[in-house]
Amino acid sequence: MSEVTKSDGFEPRITAFVCKWCTYAGADLAGTSRMTYAPNVRALMLPCTGRIDVSFVIRAFLQGADGVIVSGCHPGDCHYTAGNYRARRRWILFRDLLDTLGFDLRRFELAWISAAEGAKWVKTIQAFTDRLRELGPYTAMHNLADDRAPGIAPQAGTDVLLDLAQAKPDVASVDPQLVADIAEALDGGKLKAVVGWMKAPTLNRPRPAWFATAAAAKEMVSPNGTGNLVRLLKKRQLRALLPLGLVARACEAGALNVLAQEANIDPAAITVFTVDRNGRYLGAQNLPADLPTDRPVGFSDETLKALDQLMAKSPEERWTFWTSQSAKCLRCYACRASCPLCTCDQCIMDKNQPQWFPTAADGPGNFAWQMIRAFHLAGRCVGCGACHNACPAGIPLILLNAAMARSALKNFDHRAGVDPKAVPLQSDFRTDDKEDFIL
Ligand code: SF4
Ligand code: SF4
Repeated sequence: MSEVTKSDGFEPRITAFVCKWCTYAGADLAGTSRMTYAPNVRALMLPCTGRIDVSFVIRAFLQGADGVIVSGCHPGDCHYTAGNYRARRRWILFRDLLDTLGFDLRRFELAWISAAEGAKWVKTIQAFTDRLRELGPYTAMHNLADDRAPGIAPQAGTDVLLDLAQAKPDVASVDPQLVADIAEALDGGKLKAVVGWMKAPTLNRPRPAWFATAAAAKEMVSPNGTGNLVRLLKKRQLRALLPLGLVARACEAGALNVLAQEANIDPAAITVFTVDRNGRYLGAQNLPADLPTDRPVGFSDETLKALDQLMAKSPEERWTFWTSQSAKCLRCYACRASCPLCTCDQCIMDKNQPQWFPTAADGPGNFAWQMIRAFHLAGRCVGCGACHNACPAGIPLILLNAAMARSALKNFDHRAGVDPKAVPLQSDFRTDDKEDFIL
């Protein structure tokens, strides 16, 4: 990517994703009315703003766009009733993700432009083009994808932000009342098995296990492992053992609630034996009764404090931090495998017909993966830290998750995993969701 400056007569490349019913027709009207505007934009027509996935935007930037604009029907005018309301909710979360990463938000524009507003289309594109001419090429993003760029060095793991392991891998004995309750449920035939933790034969740390008899349950140890047991419910072998019990911390119980919201499990088939952060047994209940309501479920004080520290840095510093962290990614997908809420049959990162993102561990593919993972977990992640603890490269994944959880709380008063009957955040909308960032 050559270094082009304003003085070189730089002309930005703009990608527009537009709804066919409103904005595309509005742009067409501008053309048939012979209005003139900067020719820098390439418009891609989609049936609805609700169909415009954040992957399209990420891909456009990685393929060289200097700016991206998304535009569709005004609220209340959607051809499909609510596609634009749902899109708006996603853009709120996505913009917060971009901000956390230190992305230059001046390069991502959103607008409501109707079929009758050819003049608004012209004005919007002209103003956006002028702004991008001022800003110059988006080299920060393009460098990720450019073999000839200096390259982004992985950052050493010495930063305070990296020291965020959320659980201690020591083995501790379990509350006898928990074992007694489990034994009673197994002996009485109420449950076929209970998933919990036992001491690994060769290591001084707990490992996941399932217990089918009261005698076996005596081997149970305190669940202060670094993983999330709910991920095991992805396994067919375990699902064959329903009704099942599960020893769960608040974040694991929360993950069960999210799976129930998304109709991925039948909550009636699972009994939760809740323990607190320190392994203290709280009884057979869905979530601890005294969960604080002013913060996302699961995230530790240290994580939220580290997020504050990160957000106090400048966008440029955040960008440098995240790109250098992302450069360390091995694309091993241990984060995905360890997450109870990564439930897609086929991850978009594995798709090759068409291939959305590079599968090799390289700049653009890695960065896309970090963004997609965090965004797909937005409003769903329960802060268990399993992905973060599993990452062999030491990338502080929990910070991106926490940023998304904070965004969900701040913008929608939503805390993932609290209510098993709630509508999933990204499937829902309110007509008064904020839109002060949309033209
Ligand atoms: S994204 Fe990470 S922290 Fe969030 S639920 Fe999944 S494994 Fe836990
Ligand atoms: S676990 Fe870490 S290194 Fe592996 S794919 Fe996830 S972020 Fe990359």
